[in-house]
Amino acid sequence: MTAKTIILLSVLAGALGFAPVVYAEVFEVTATVETDPVPHAGDRADDATIWVHPTDPNLSVIIGTDKDDSDGGLAVYDLTGRQMSFTTGGKMNNIDVRYNFPLGARQVDIIAVGNRTNNSIAVYTIDPNTRELTDIAARTIFIGIEEAYGFCLYQSWQTNKYYAFVNDKNGEVEQWELFGNRSSKVDAFRVRSFDAGGQTEGMVADDQLGYVYIGEEDVGIWKYGAEPDDPTDDANRVLVDTTDSSGHLAADVEGLTIYYANGLEGYLIASSQGEGSPGHPLVDTFAVYRRAGDNEYVMNFKIAGNDTLGIDRVSNTDGIAAASAAVGSAFPQGIFVAQDGSNTGGNQNFKVVRWEHIATAISPNLKIDTGRDPRSICGKKGYLPGDLNKDCLVDSEDLQLLMENWLATR
Ligand code: CA
Ligand code: CA
Ligand code: CA
Ligand code: CA
Ligand code: CA
Ligand code: CA
Repeated sequence: MTAKTIILLSVLAGALGFAPVVYAEVFEVTATVETDPVPHAGDRADDATIWVHPTDPNLSVIIGTDKDDSDGGLAVYDLTGRQMSFTTGGKMNNIDVRYNFPLGARQVDIIAVGNRTNNSIAVYTIDPNTRELTDIAARTIFIGIEEAYGFCLYQSWQTNKYYAFVNDKNGEVEQWELFGNRSSKVDAFRVRSFDAGGQTEGMVADDQLGYVYIGEEDVGIWKYGAEPDDPTDDANRVLVDTTDSSGHLAADVEGLTIYYANGLEGYLIASSQGEGSPGHPLVDTFAVYRRAGDNEYVMNFKIAGNDTLGIDRVSNTDGIAAASAAVGSAFPQGIFVAQDGSNTGGNQNFKVVRWEHIATAISPNLKIDTGRDPRSICGKKGYLPGDLNKDCLVDSEDLQLLMENWLATR
């Protein structure tokens, strides 16, 4: 029986109310790398992002958060998992990256974080030569909601503007536009705020499709328009998947990430953490959906222990990150990173999985597409920010349609 069939049966059974719910088969992968433990003990590691080096993929890094109250910060790991640096800055929670941010006469890559110590948006850049982080915030960018809990970045395909989304434990969401000021620092102003429901955290934006996905931890994954003038009422948001018996998520819904493939292909991935639903069969798994259309459900997978390499299994995951780019010889077909809530023998850390192991766990396989340039929001090299140039449109008919629709409806 295919996983899809099992789910269909479970939905029917649930609807008719006479049979126990049968959940989807959970596919299994293992990590090939784990990072050094974060500096602080307890529930401190939270989220990670993957920065792809502009010229040498082997020099790409994983940047993880440590949410210690007094000495939290950001750890930079090379692709073997070794901690290269730790930058203190506060109770750093969720983190995201975007490329080619215009700052004065140059373009920099920005790494931005929700800082729970002072409820602000922290902004750093990374030097491709030293791979060290530098704080480039113009000031302490205080947010207007209770706590900088969930966080993600969004670069609008249409306008090329950069935005930060931040949310708190009351489900309040704010969107901030980031800009480079005259001193070549990053400042921001609030462009939108709305209420997504109960406790929210994990967020990710789809830059091409113009959506932001928001995890309501007890409920599921919401999909909103990511442009600041998009409506946020119930009629204009979609529940992509739920924690109830018709869904594929064990509450809490935690980290969200996107794997981009060519055109409209690729996946939305969610941490089905399960801390709030012990015994649920989808605890400690990751749910995969298509990016395009109605986010069709694809599968759940878990990261089992890798006995050969002595890497323990992944459980109780908060943040996750994926990148489709080839990042060096260790991850030649893409990379997936998951926070591990319980790291055998040490403080929490991040486990790293080769994308092809996830892609080939299920048949038919998921897409493996290393051709996408993460520095181009349209996915092709040669794209100039601010210029809706035709290079962007030649790759696939789907993408061309998408772009046309975007322009027509936005
Ligand atoms: Ca946790
Ligand atoms: Ca949470
Ligand atoms: Ca929780
Ligand atoms: Ca978290
Ligand atoms: Ca573990
Ligand atoms: Ca370990």
